[in-house]
Amino acid sequence: MFRDFLKRGNNRITPERFEVLDSALEFDGHFSADELFISMKNNNSRVSRATVYNTLELLCQAELLSLRNFSNKVNYYESNFKRQNHFHLVCIDCGRIVEFTESRIEEISKDIGEKLGFKTSSYSYNIFARCEKKPDCPFLNGKSNS
Ligand SMILES: [Zn+2]
Ligand SMILES: [Zn+2]
Repeated sequence: MFRDFLKRGNNRITPERFEVLDSALEFDGHFSADELFISMKNNNSRVSRATVYNTLELLCQAELLSLRNFSNKVNYYESNFKRQNHFHLVCIDCGRIVEFTESRIEEISKDIGEKLGFKTSSYSYNIFARCEKKPDCPFLNGKSNS
């Protein structure tokens, strides 16, 4: 799939790009470009940071990864494989992320697209909130996350 995508866009097909693809799909949960880069480095990969960044961008365009904006600071990515479409609730104190599914959001997103004359292809939905239970939130527990 990625090979076809690269060909169509006249992008070079390099082993490094497929190395980034494999590592990104293997990554459990959400990751930033730097987290992926560091984990690849720890596995003795010689792929450069720039290649990781621009390949992640291509993987999002190819819809193999989803781009997540949980805050205005860092972009996070997530594999689209073996995953049901889901949404995120983010604690604005500790950054804890809880995933959920809700069919009403899917319906509303398609309805709105239709009403405005679009065919909805994807959507993302984040709720920003605060942990209510002390034991779950490291921030409320006095251990701030840095
Ligand atoms: Zn997620
Ligand atoms: Zn919290």
